[in-house]
Amino acid sequence: VKILVLNTGSSSIKYQLREVAGGAVAAGAAAAGLGLAGEILADGEVDRIAEEGSVPGHGRALELILESLLDPTSGVVKDTAAVSAVGHRVVHGGERFTAPALITVEVIAQIEECSSLAPLHNPPALAGIREAQRILPHTPQVAVFDTAFHATMPQKARVYALPYRYTEAGVRRYGFHGISYSSVTQRLDGMLSGGLAGHKVMIAHLGNGASICAVDGGVCVDTSMGLTPLEGLVMGTRSGDVDPGAVLYLIREFGLTADDLDRILNKESGILGVSGVSNDMRDVLGRADSGDERCRLAIDVYVHRLRKYVGAFAASMGGLDTLVFTAGVGENSGQIRAAVCEGLGFLGVALDPEANDATHGVEKDISAAGARVRVLVVPTDEEGFIARATAEVVGAG
Ligand code: ADP
Repeated sequence: VKILVLNTGSSSIKYQLREVAGGAVAAGAAAAGLGLAGEILADGEVDRIAEEGSVPGHGRALELILESLLDPTSGVVKDTAAVSAVGHRVVHGGERFTAPALITVEVIAQIEECSSLAPLHNPPALAGIREAQRILPHTPQVAVFDTAFHATMPQKARVYALPYRYTEAGVRRYGFHGISYSSVTQRLDGMLSGGLAGHKVMIAHLGNGASICAVDGGVCVDTSMGLTPLEGLVMGTRSGDVDPGAVLYLIREFGLTADDLDRILNKESGILGVSGVSNDMRDVLGRADSGDERCRLAIDVYVHRLRKYVGAFAASMGGLDTLVFTAGVGENSGQIRAAVCEGLGFLGVALDPEANDATHGVEKDISAAGARVRVLVVPTDEEGFIARATAEVVGAG
């Protein structure tokens, strides 16, 4: 079946049209570890939405996407009925959503309720859902959530040690990048002997945003992002962990407001903040190599934090047998992978330096022969997961 996957941001819509196996077939294929990827029939992006001289709104952007899919010469479908369903990426599913959901009036209202937890991400996704319903009123729509993968985290890993009334009000750890973790986990199930059962796996999703997740027997037991995607690892422009006392100090001593701190911690910190030059790991690695000390420091802080989390999660999971790198930095940078693994020999991590250096964006075992922990590069395929999940929900309904 053909599934249109939409990833709607505040100023862009990324899309893919995927051909995947239908509901029951997909589940069977997953069990057999077969043909999971699904073919990409078309993909692209409409960006700079609502900017001057560009596409006026999300509705028009989606119309343009459909026009290109239906184009008589270059299009890949004859009519909109050929699209079986639309799968939407939704970042925050709050307490309510622990699995993909067929979109109904009630589901939209519940996604809206989660919007205060993800003010940058959920409102654009809702705009995408509403426009897709308007333009394709007869096509079923499915929401796939980044938080859902982490619903299995035990209470002790979810609860902040705040007065409990705040926990009851939903101020707790949710975790993100769950669509990526789901895609990598499905792939691992076919790669590891005996599947994921009995395996203690850590997956480091290192893109512009970055997080790490501990997966024990196929289910998430801990992850580095929390109530929002700001907690945890050092990222391109996000600070990751900072002493909450430092945030209070910034408010009191520098007169910063909540909006100032939102901007500083989310957009001006991380690799960009420390290096002072860029959030792009390629740039910063290049400058560090040519002797730029602040770029060197940014990389050191990034790697130190990551290594610290690997150690912490090995302890919280009670072991580690497989360490996986994914997303832009994780899939492409042998230098970062080597730096992270360097201090981890005591856990049984040892790389094959040649295999590590030579691996860019492809699936590969990069561990040294005989190492106790397998280190793998597994490319993430978030659109593929959304397409399969959407086909399953529609097939089941
Ligand atoms: P997003 O989170 O936006 O989806 P990606 O997963 O595409 O991002 O990751 C983007 C990051 O990957 C950027 O910081 C980019 O510099 C980094 N990256 C891509 N290729 C390489 C490479 N060869 N070496 C180091 N970093 C890389």
